[in-house]
Amino acid sequence: MTDLAANLEKLDRYLARFPDGGIQNLIAGQSRAAASGRVFETVSPVDESPICAVARGGAEDIDAAATAAADAFAAWRDMPAPERKRILIRIADAIEARAEEIALCECWDTGQALRFMSGAALRGAENFRYFADQVTSARDGLQLRSPGLMNVTTRVPIGPVGVITPWNTPFMLSTWKIAPALAAGCTVVHKPAELSPLTARILAEIAHEAGLPPGVWNLVNGFGEEAGRALTQHPAIRAIAFVGESRTGSLIAGQGADTLKRMHLELGGKNPVVVFDDADLDRALDAVIFMIYSINGERCTSSSRLLIQDTIREEFETRLIARIDRIRVGHPLDPATEIGPLIGRDHFDKVTGYFEIARADGATVAAGGTRAGDTGFFVRPTLFTGAENGMRIAQEEIFGPVLTSIPFTTEDEALHIANDIPYGLTAYVWTSDLTRALRFTDRLEAGMIWVNSENVRHLPTPFGGVKASGIGRDGGDWSFEFYMEQKHVGFAMGAHPVPRLGA
Ligand code: NAD
Repeated sequence: MTDLAANLEKLDRYLARFPDGGIQNLIAGQSRAAASGRVFETVSPVDESPICAVARGGAEDIDAAATAAADAFAAWRDMPAPERKRILIRIADAIEARAEEIALCECWDTGQALRFMSGAALRGAENFRYFADQVTSARDGLQLRSPGLMNVTTRVPIGPVGVITPWNTPFMLSTWKIAPALAAGCTVVHKPAELSPLTARILAEIAHEAGLPPGVWNLVNGFGEEAGRALTQHPAIRAIAFVGESRTGSLIAGQGADTLKRMHLELGGKNPVVVFDDADLDRALDAVIFMIYSINGERCTSSSRLLIQDTIREEFETRLIARIDRIRVGHPLDPATEIGPLIGRDHFDKVTGYFEIARADGATVAAGGTRAGDTGFFVRPTLFTGAENGMRIAQEEIFGPVLTSIPFTTEDEALHIANDIPYGLTAYVWTSDLTRALRFTDRLEAGMIWVNSENVRHLPTPFGGVKASGIGRDGGDWSFEFYMEQKHVGFAMGAHPVPRLGA
């Protein structure tokens, strides 16, 4: 039996566990159909076959979930930290124990290749372990003495929070948001993306089996305009942690305005990778390819704009094309596959639409630019050359395995092109000139920059974007700053004179 056949057989066993009623919501520890009784179907992008029905939650379900989260809040907040920590560690252990199931379901639901998703569960577990370790110090504060007063600060969890996640790497992103929220002492209502609901359900079940009290983590499936909107507008929800498109982020900011929600918005990107002619070009080539063609290019931090110095452009692009043409597009459960199908029809139409836009704008389709196969949403990895930064292929987030190459001559020109974009999530710089690297990164408009490296996530570092790429930071203590409130208490240490009115 081939590896693919073996994985498909295992997948069948894992999918069989989704009950006949399909994926239900999980509210106050109980599986429930949507209050309206409505469902939608999730399909696999591999062959467009239906996977199962999913509860189509709406305002009523969100209200039940937010009420459950509000009811569970005080007890969860006040649970002794070591006990809360133990539960988070048990969740991490259980995620690891079900790593294969999570990986196969994630691939089938999203089209992501197994070679990248096989580590998704482990990274998710790592998120729980990392924040579990911070639980016992999350509430710590400062002692700030002033004349006659002992001022102390402490942090308290903000309350029930809403978490809204997208369909790209949904398992990892969900853990990334939910683990620090729980560690901070918040309760959660999670609304996963309608296009990839499978692993969110597995994750919520794992948490309950690990002993999380009912109501602390509630899962409501459904569409953004229905369940998502209701969550952002619910008065019991104190904050919204959102990951998704920039346009959706601004809608959500508006929707949450009436109830004065705190917002953390992790949004889109059109990230530059700048390659100077003094760089280690072999390593730069590997990183350029990895950062746009892994994870199907459906990655917010992908380097989708290659800014290449004109002295090395021709040779670099020639080597790039040769490698791109050898990238293996195929079934996501085949361990050899490097690119699987895009998430769904709408997204496939959007991505392939740029092939024509590129030609119409006068760029060259130097590699790819076609679909792969007759069914499913497979596209060949694509390279546009001869582009200018004003073109749509250089300005808009395509969110597929599509790279736009733009030449530059001087450092100043590279900087101008890199920053001349509405987004500012990540940037990558390849040069062996340290002084230039310092100067250049200082002026780059991006929340995260890597020099002579691909994106290597380190959980204690701040993750987030500037401009249209978002507001707020994840990671380390920054996550707690979002999920918690700073509180100040001043204690008089004596009888200092209190101003007397009307005396
Ligand atoms: P999306 O914005 O379409 O949807 C994201 C989530 O928002 C889904 O759960 C959706 O149902 C919900 N939603 C949609 N409209 C809503 C509304 N009006 N109110 C409340 N919720 C609503 O994004 P997507 O297509 O699922 O994901 C791809 C996008 O996510 C890309 O732009 C990508 O760059 C971005 N992304 C960013 C990061 C980051 O960390 N910056 C990480 C991953 C993905």
